[in-house]
Amino acid sequence: MKLSPGHACQHISAAGCGIYETRPEKPCRTFKCAWLTEGDEFPEELRPDISGAIPVHDRDWYDWKVLWLYPRVAVVEPEVLAWFVDYAKPRQLPVIFYEHSWEGDDYKGMSEKALGPAKFAADVQKRPSDSDVFRSLTSD
Ligand code: SF4
Repeated sequence: MKLSPGHACQHISAAGCGIYETRPEKPCRTFKCAWLTEGDEFPEELRPDISGAIPVHDRDWYDWKVLWLYPRVAVVEPEVLAWFVDYAKPRQLPVIFYEHSWEGDDYKGMSEKALGPAKFAADVQKRPSDSDVFRSLTSD
């Protein structure tokens, strides 16, 4: 199955997946967004089709476990990002989020941004990263 960033899957339909019963194993059956896996923690309004952002939990970034946030369209809406930052802060959990850009119909790519605790900020500065924005989640 061919998927490309910035473009909806060819099988998507108004009613959802048009080949749901026969959808492929990867990524369709194995991928689980954090709204499903951490269902008790995330409210209904953060369901990706409502919030516009797909959270992915427990991903590795060097020695860190991070939360990724992928926008369904161009960017993660500020109030959605704010909710995840409030969730991440007491857990000292870095949040890496992405922004897509287009020129007309041409997909131009994705930039990576990060928010996290002070130790994570220090690590970002030591390591190669595509992150183009970083602010500490804490004031220390
Ligand atoms: S489940 Fe898979 S095949 Fe179906 S719409 Fe989503 S990405 Fe496409």
